[in-house]
Amino acid sequence: MSTLTYEANLDFARKLDREDVLHPFREQFIFPQHNGKDTIYFCGNSLGLQSKGVATELQKELDRWGSLAIDGFFTGDTPWLQYHEELSQNLAPIMGASPAELIVMNTLTINLHLMMVSFYRPTKERFKIIMEAGAFPSDQYAVETQVKFHGFDPAEAIVEVSPRAGEELLHDEDILAAIEEHGDQTALILFGGVNYYTGQVYDMQAITEAGHRAGARVGFDLAHGAGNVPVQLHDWNVDFAVWCSYKYLNSGPGGSSGAFVHERHSGDPDLPRFAGWWGYEESTRFLMRKGFKPAAGAAGWQLSTPNILTMVPHRVSLQLFAQAGFQRLREKSVQLTGYLEYLIREVSGQTDRFRIITPDAPNRRGCQLSVLTTQEGKDLFDYLIDHGVILDWREHNLPGDTGQSAGVIRVAPTPMYNTFEDVFRFAELLEKYVN
Ligand SMILES: *Cc1c(COP(=O)(O)O)cnc(C)c1O
Repeated sequence: MSTLTYEANLDFARKLDREDVLHPFREQFIFPQHNGKDTIYFCGNSLGLQSKGVATELQKELDRWGSLAIDGFFTGDTPWLQYHEELSQNLAPIMGASPAELIVMNTLTINLHLMMVSFYRPTKERFKIIMEAGAFPSDQYAVETQVKFHGFDPAEAIVEVSPRAGEELLHDEDILAAIEEHGDQTALILFGGVNYYTGQVYDMQAITEAGHRAGARVGFDLAHGAGNVPVQLHDWNVDFAVWCSYKYLNSGPGGSSGAFVHERHSGDPDLPRFAGWWGYEESTRFLMRKGFKPAAGAAGWQLSTPNILTMVPHRVSLQLFAQAGFQRLREKSVQLTGYLEYLIREVSGQTDRFRIITPDAPNRRGCQLSVLTTQEGKDLFDYLIDHGVILDWREHNLPGDTGQSAGVIRVAPTPMYNTFEDVFRFAELLEKYVN
């Protein structure tokens, strides 16, 4: 894979598509149209595309609701009572966890709060949270308000690790140094597995080890990691993780979120949690007894009756992931993003108007390349949109920003439905714009 020599021409891109065993999966997806043609959709990092099977499966569950009503929980092919089990099975290889360590429930920010209820237990001596500067805003607000909820001052309790002056990415050693420095006062380390803005993948294993050495708990928000980069949550000994299903996991706007709780915590009766009846031990749940008795595993963190209608697209999508095989998807992803990088470099060599800030090393990034642009960046973005490319634009907000950039264009070709030709067409437009 790494020995592949790329060529900047359409025939070469098409040859890679012909050789790609995952290419047929593209046919399963619905593409937004531009002038009667499929757009080049590079926004799977914000909202993955809808697969064609979703509508049929949704209609099936509506029919089951119509014909079975309450019995839909207990009978038929997909009883709602056990609906989450297949999701956990198919998520297991994607998250590097056992099915019992996984649960699909709620939405992401809610799950982040629920996990912090259990895993952020500050004391007067140990109350700090270490996180990356410039984390996704929802995570910043969740952390800030959790800290306040426990009566601490965010200015003292939140330690943000920033890029060095004039740089965009975090150094591993700066993260580890922060853990070392604040270790004995730190209750929780919370990082995005993949930074949403720069596309940088953090060394989750090293962070987890360092955090545990310091006596802290370690959790990850994998919103940009799930279905994008390989993770081994169980083997890395991560305490908890959360993610959403509507980005790389293609499960629809506001789709159900997932949570991971390491097996060593699930039987711990002293671990506090906010409970609801759906997290009660399943075989005796309907006896409706007083006194909460959690179900084993991550399922014991459920609160409410599951939202089946948002779990249907997730089920369909995870079946596609299982068919494609996550490892094969990742192998294609490395090639596809490698090709994108190669072509962008060819063009950016001719101009100083933009440059890639995402790490070069394939194991330190996923699909996404973040392209930092100068003043006229918004102009370039508008040009691409006008020519049928869908991607997204973020005003600059890097912690160490020197004020010279206008913003970042995030380009995320996904291995499930994007092609090498998509990538080539995109680069062709970039070149036309520059010259
Ligand atoms: C997308 C994203 C979110 C969004 O949270 P929701 O609760 O699903 O709206 C939160 N955190 C991160 C890191 C994200 O990338």
